Amino acid sequence: MAHAVVAGAGIGGLTAALALARNGWQVTVLEQAASIEPVGAGLAVAPNALRALDMIGLGDEVRKLSAIQGEAGLRRPSGRWLSRTTAEDAAARYGDSIVLLTRSALVGILAARLPRGALRLGTRAESADPRTGLVTLATPAGGTETIQADLVVAADGIRSRTRAALFPGHPEPGYAGVTSWRALVPFPGPVGASETWGAGLVFGVMPLAGGQVYCYATAPVPAGLRAESEKDELIRLFGRWHDPIPALLAAAEPGAVLRHDIYSLDTPLPALHSGRIALLGDAAHPMTPNLGQGACQAIEDAVVLARHVSPGGGPAPDLTAGLAAYSRERLARTTPIVRRSRLVGRVSGWRAPLAVALRDGALRAAGMLGPAVAVRQFDDVFRWPA
Ligand SMILES: Cc1cc2nc3c(=O)[nH]c(=O)nc-3n(C[C@H](O)[C@H](O)[C@H](O)COP(=O)(O)OP(=O)(O)OC[C@H]3O[C@@H](n4cnc5c(N)ncnc54)[C@H](O)[C@@H]3O)c2cc1C
Repeated sequence: MAHAVVAGAGIGGLTAALALARNGWQVTVLEQAASIEPVGAGLAVAPNALRALDMIGLGDEVRKLSAIQGEAGLRRPSGRWLSRTTAEDAAARYGDSIVLLTRSALVGILAARLPRGALRLGTRAESADPRTGLVTLATPAGGTETIQADLVVAADGIRSRTRAALFPGHPEPGYAGVTSWRALVPFPGPVGASETWGAGLVFGVMPLAGGQVYCYATAPVPAGLRAESEKDELIRLFGRWHDPIPALLAAAEPGAVLRHDIYSLDTPLPALHSGRIALLGDAAHPMTPNLGQGACQAIEDAVVLARHVSPGGGPAPDLTAGLAAYSRERLARTTPIVRRSRLVGRVSGWRAPLAVALRDGALRAAGMLGPAVAVRQFDDVFRWPA
């Protein structure tokens, strides 16, 4: 049986391992961390990723554990709506609405389906030879080992050492100019989904199943800054915004507020493969979170990769052609999404009062055309496969 070694057990790596195993590959997943419990945050899974999950038999399980994003939209800090969409409009157009769940719920679903013994925790992929498929890894005991792979999937995240080794001259992901906060907040009251844009500031609210609300926020500040209390920093920035933002912030556990600076790879890689190695997810095309598509695209990558390297349901006789096809298809799909996400991030980060007024006026005018029109703006992203 042909053997695929997957470096990284994030959403991308786990989905790739499952999709490959389903198509007849023996899989080994290397994860440098001692556990795969992800950061305590939520995740929006869009219709395109649900369709990809359907292709490997997991869509319904994800839907079952998720909340459906009902009426949602863009607001101003005063609470005034700029545009709205509904779950019905999205479902009518794309077959599904966006669904919302915790990252740990999604990772739990994926990890539970890995073949027994496939996951090696505390094990770091040190290097992989694109020509031979020989992977060198660091074991939890501090030793070194090599494994022979027919296919290596580099799903090692935004700081991918595989990407740097395969494309040494390529620019690293650059700071997008904003930092982000995320928190899961226990909150019993009924809350609707929304994203609120102020002058450079963004605050998002996503109700999840089980009385939790996922909050996220971004602000344009220099990279690397940290506050003594990130919760207090959020209250300082957003504490006077519309309801229920102040109450959500008050209910957040101080230790549960995560902060990460946002990076994006503005120059696409020349290819998403080299020799026997395929890059996938944030290792391949790190993007800003403004379209909520980073993990969704990693899921699509995984399913498409498995299809291209497993013609006829088994390991590919011609891996080279399969990986070249994967690379072409996924670069064409992800490059415009990375760009669009970055653009939305830039526009939401505008701070000059006139620019903000013009932006909000344009959004409101578009929003007046109705929810069905607002939803259509996502056709390029959500309608997949085309
Ligand atoms: C604030 C914010 C909000 C977001 N919201 C959404 C959203 O709502 N919807 C959405 O679709 N996307 C969202 N994203 C994007 C999404 O989180 C990422 O795109 C996605 O998690 C990438 O998954 P991945 O598997 O490619 O990488 P990662 O999740 O980074 O996983 C990489 C894994 O590889 C491991 N690893 C690294 N190096 C090695 C090595 N050498 N050997 C072994 N293991 C290694 C790491 O420990 C890690 O477990 C958001 C991102 C941010 C920052």
